[in-house]
Amino acid sequence: MLYHHVDVNTPAITSISPDQFDKHLAIIEKEGFRVLSLDTLIDNALNGDADVKEVAITFDDAYISIYREAFPRLKAKGWPFTIFVSPALVGTGNPFYLDWQQLKEMADHGVAIENHTMNHPHLVRRLSGESEEIWRNRVTREITDASDALTEAGFSPTRFAYPYGEYDLALTEIIRSLGLQGFGQQSGAIGPMSNPALLPRYPLAGVYVGESAFRDKLRSLALPIKHPDIDPLVSENLKPALLLDFVNPNVNTSRLTCYGPGGVMQISEEARGRVSITPASELPIGRSRYNCTLPKGNRYHWFSQLWMRKKTDGSWYQEP
Ligand SMILES: [Zn+2]
Repeated sequence: MLYHHVDVNTPAITSISPDQFDKHLAIIEKEGFRVLSLDTLIDNALNGDADVKEVAITFDDAYISIYREAFPRLKAKGWPFTIFVSPALVGTGNPFYLDWQQLKEMADHGVAIENHTMNHPHLVRRLSGESEEIWRNRVTREITDASDALTEAGFSPTRFAYPYGEYDLALTEIIRSLGLQGFGQQSGAIGPMSNPALLPRYPLAGVYVGESAFRDKLRSLALPIKHPDIDPLVSENLKPALLLDFVNPNVNTSRLTCYGPGGVMQISEEARGRVSITPASELPIGRSRYNCTLPKGNRYHWFSQLWMRKKTDGSWYQEP
């Protein structure tokens, strides 16, 4: 699970109200889920038993409402959580961000403090005229500088969250080579076939915080497919087909449902256990996703694929 602000006065697109956050915590309890540290959850999920009721809670960006609203609630329940921090934003006196003292206090209560780059840039955006090698050095430094700053502050970061959830294959390779686990903002549950450099999380903010949708996400299981290695940046083909290769070729995919730009996606069976999904409309400028679910009892297998499209003049889109 991924949260940013727990606040009614911050941008809706990255916020959940304290009341709604309480409802999520109540659902976790009512459904009988165990809240684990990210560490334990990832170990279990990558190795393991997909039917277990386990969840981890994460926050990106180190906003002050984590300390004011989320921490007291989670501490009272004894539930661990993780904060992905960009050190350059911490302790600057900016009242919207946590300071180092607050991070230390939470860490003393079992909160994990992890890497979200030094300055929170759009890592996949090459500067004009920048070679791949210079880009690789620049983004590597963004990541290692953050690890160094967090280590110096007394934390032990081993995990990384991609700013804006944006990645490409060159970047996931850098994360892997640095020995970090990587977390995106694409929906889905983690399973043995997940890529440890590109683990999914459910972003819970804006219109995506409702109770029944949260319950479905909480109960979700990894879609049992071989992880597709795809560069999400599109330029020529604006309706890219995505191949899903199921681990078990005899799986019944007739109840697989996928949504993408333009709504329900077309699914065609290419071979046994292999389907191709195609969107109804072209990908919009900015970030978009394909989301696929396959029911299993009262739960869903879930997989999401990120796409990014630049503006028609070739420049990058702005954040809303
Ligand atoms: Zn962020």
